[in-house]
Amino acid sequence: MVNKTNVQAAPTTISIPTLRKDFKDRVIAPGDTDYDKARAVFYGGMDRHPAVIIKVADTNDVSRVINLARESGLELAVRSGGHSVPGHSVTEGGILLDLSTMKDLQIDPESRTAWAETGLTAAEFTKAAAAHGLAVGFGDTGSVGIGGITLGGGVGYLVRKYGLTIDSLLAAEVVTADGQIRHVDEQTHPDLFWAIRGGGGNFGVATRFKFRLYEVPSVVGGMLVLPATPETIANFVAESEAAPEELSGIGNVMFAPPMPFLPAEAQGKLIIMAVLVYAGDVEAGQRALAPFRAIATPLADMLHPMGYPEIYPPEQEDYHPVATAHTMFVDKIDLPVAQTIVDHLQASTAMMRVAQLRVLAGAMARVPVDATAFAHRNSKIMVNVAALYQNPEEKATHEAWVTNFATALLQNDHGAYVNFLGDEGEERIRAAYPGSTWDRLLEVKARYDPANLFRLNQNIPVLTK
Ligand SMILES: Cc1cc2nc3c(=O)[nH]c(=O)nc-3n(C[C@H](O)[C@H](O)[C@H](O)COP(=O)(O)OP(=O)(O)OC[C@H]3O[C@@H](n4cnc5c(N)ncnc54)[C@H](O)[C@@H]3O)c2cc1C
Repeated sequence: MVNKTNVQAAPTTISIPTLRKDFKDRVIAPGDTDYDKARAVFYGGMDRHPAVIIKVADTNDVSRVINLARESGLELAVRSGGHSVPGHSVTEGGILLDLSTMKDLQIDPESRTAWAETGLTAAEFTKAAAAHGLAVGFGDTGSVGIGGITLGGGVGYLVRKYGLTIDSLLAAEVVTADGQIRHVDEQTHPDLFWAIRGGGGNFGVATRFKFRLYEVPSVVGGMLVLPATPETIANFVAESEAAPEELSGIGNVMFAPPMPFLPAEAQGKLIIMAVLVYAGDVEAGQRALAPFRAIATPLADMLHPMGYPEIYPPEQEDYHPVATAHTMFVDKIDLPVAQTIVDHLQASTAMMRVAQLRVLAGAMARVPVDATAFAHRNSKIMVNVAALYQNPEEKATHEAWVTNFATALLQNDHGAYVNFLGDEGEERIRAAYPGSTWDRLLEVKARYDPANLFRLNQNIPVLTK
């Protein structure tokens, strides 16, 4: 039997005046001027109304909010950067524990480690670490919170050179469902340390992470835009596979948006909008990037030596797209597969549709499959197909397109990356955690969160005998 709810059957009400006394100006409730801003998440189309939002100041606050959620029986949402694809970081009628003001960062350049509070975004962390010539690999977007991306794995521009974000995680401070503050590493609570590296927010609230940092004084990288045909797509993937591990990147196959750096004749045509990063010496970087420039005459070539934080350009704060997406892994993208990608992108009516291709391997693949709860170490290429649109009434059309596209691409690897999963049901969560990973996660869940307090996530259920 699966227990998906908290054992507290009937939620009790909470007193906002009492909370305001306890948490002072850190409480935001319906009717407050900043309530709508505080409940907004990255993706549009989510209109949930928490009973209260508490902007926690420190780990003790986190523990108190967890106790409040447990005792009141109200649903608990936990928010770091707010980029959850299914909107798991906001609740209807529950308590929103908002970590976004917990941004302390202690960098020790000598030991090349950092303790970082989980309200930091990837861009904030990256900028501060770069001041010491150091870096941790997060993802492709600066506003993503280090809380969510790290707990799910973390696939970014250093993945082939230094592995996933979790491969840089040395320790964490986690507040579990009983309100206890626990130091977690290979020696202390090793089961929990294994589970939080890929298992998401199922086991507690991570308030601080200790990362190993790498020397990344500069990189050669940026955007390279190529015309997209079956040939260029297949070549792009082949060159990404053949490239040295210093080079990681993303190829977005999409229709050219009206962007000033693209020539007029490219507008509305299929392109590969690639972002490539070579983490190493400038000359070697230019050599590694040359084969990509030779795939076809680039429509735009903005590859250049740069500081690593430049991978995170400024973002529009009011950008809240509505999206439908499917995450998967494939073994190969040869000409027929590339043709399938082109055909499906052409068939969609979405305002923007994209097949995002990330060639993996390298350092990420050298970590044993069972070392962390991220079990896709041997997966070759991560693909994310997505349709972005404005009118929520178009949802069914775009969902059907995404499903057809993903079905046409399906090969032997039936895995899924948890951080890109939407609200897709248990079968897909199990695809993120195949085989013995699932069994181990069930055990750790039962041990640390037996009442499933942390259930607003890609949920590992609590099995009752
Ligand atoms: C535009 C965009 C680009 C992306 N690019 C990449 C990419 O390149 N690589 C990649 O790997 N992923 C990428 N992602 C996916 C991203 O890693 C996940 O959406 C991630 O969960 C977001 O983290 P967050 O802290 O911003 O989100 P939130 O919505 O705040 O949290 C996401 C989930 O994690 C839980 N959570 C967050 N912080 C904590 C914490 N401290 N303790 C316990 N639970 C917590 C939340 O409860 C929620 O369930 C991208 C997402 C978006 C929207």
